[in-house]
Amino acid sequence: MTQIHSLMRGLAPLLGENPYRRETRDAYWQAGGYRDLSPDLLFNRIKAAGLRGRGGAGFPAATKVQAVRASGSVPVVVANGAEGEPGSVKDRWLMRARPHLVLDGMLRAADMTRAARCYVYVADDEAADSMRRALAEREPVVPTWIVRPEHTYVAGEETSAIRRINGGPALPAAKPPRPFEAGVDGVPTLVANVETLARIALLAARPGTPDSLLLTVSGRGLKPELVEAPVGTSLQALAYRVDRLDTPGVLMGGMFGGILGPGCLKTTLEPSALAAAGSALGCGAVHFLTAGECPVGLAADGLARLAAESSRQCGVCVSGTAALARTMASVVHGTAGQEDLASLTRWSQSLLRRGACGLLDAAANLASSLLRSFGPLTEAHLGAHLGARCTDCSADRAPDPDRFLAEPPTVRTTTHPVSAPR
Ligand code: SF4
Repeated sequence: MTQIHSLMRGLAPLLGENPYRRETRDAYWQAGGYRDLSPDLLFNRIKAAGLRGRGGAGFPAATKVQAVRASGSVPVVVANGAEGEPGSVKDRWLMRARPHLVLDGMLRAADMTRAARCYVYVADDEAADSMRRALAEREPVVPTWIVRPEHTYVAGEETSAIRRINGGPALPAAKPPRPFEAGVDGVPTLVANVETLARIALLAARPGTPDSLLLTVSGRGLKPELVEAPVGTSLQALAYRVDRLDTPGVLMGGMFGGILGPGCLKTTLEPSALAAAGSALGCGAVHFLTAGECPVGLAADGLARLAAESSRQCGVCVSGTAALARTMASVVHGTAGQEDLASLTRWSQSLLRRGACGLLDAAANLASSLLRSFGPLTEAHLGAHLGARCTDCSADRAPDPDRFLAEPPTVRTTTHPVSAPR
């Protein structure tokens, strides 16, 4: 079971009072939830708070809401809890333990955008059951359905959610149009991560609520922890929490934020500081390297994972992720040369923004961040005498794409378990 911990002073607004127990509708109401609030007032609070999406790209929430609000159509809202990133458990936990916080935020998003329908898009069985019970406990004024994708990396992409809800596969689609232009059934659709929606509910209940983040903290030999931390917490505080102050590097944001190298512990978890470090919060998954663990091996395993997760719709992604993974594996094995390093450098730039979704960008970023943060170390792996240089890598080391799994989701079946009545 995932350990849960708060770095907040006083009450942790997202974890709530008892994070190990599912919160009922009555308990949520008693804590101040579901109270009336004008949608315009809430929108202004979201804007003033500078809330950014918590699913990956970190897009400003108010901008997204406004785009759908201004569309002139009757839109749709999708609560995205698919959580395909292998190192993340925060979204499924949020829906399992605090379903009414998510539901409240989703209904307020519907109110702000004057949406006529809502969908909860969730892969994890337990989280889906919890949301289903919440919908029974408090029947929403806006018709709402639960839609289930398979648990894959790309299922969490917002265009995958649209395709799945429209009756297709949970695979990304080319943009434009973006969902806020034409989404479910072709109407403007607000797709918002479930943690983003939970923060919207908190802004409605208590405008001065401290801004916090849900993080999944993991690493070799660590039991994964779900941590609620104030925005601006340093990586050092997290490393201290899990006894990894001697970490040689950190994989940030699932794989979206790349690998940060020595000295990264001073970096704080806020968008501008992370961007200055060449990284991003992504889904909030923070993976600490353990002393002696090689970042080149970490990058090779990450690339193997991404190559395996490619939906194989874009030729450039199929060949690009495979080439990155194969070449990084050859660096780990000690069989790569300078020309391979040059190829990695070139591909990590030329593949950016070439795929229909963010997976290919994640692969390119992973390679470029390794070369930026650990260039000399990576170069030291070249040549035939690797065994003498890196104790963590070897000529027969097999890729381990599963090393990032903080907690496998509970999924009883793999093929479209529940369809939405539409
Ligand atoms: S970039 Fe890759 S994962 Fe994304 S849609 Fe294209 S083939 Fe699929």
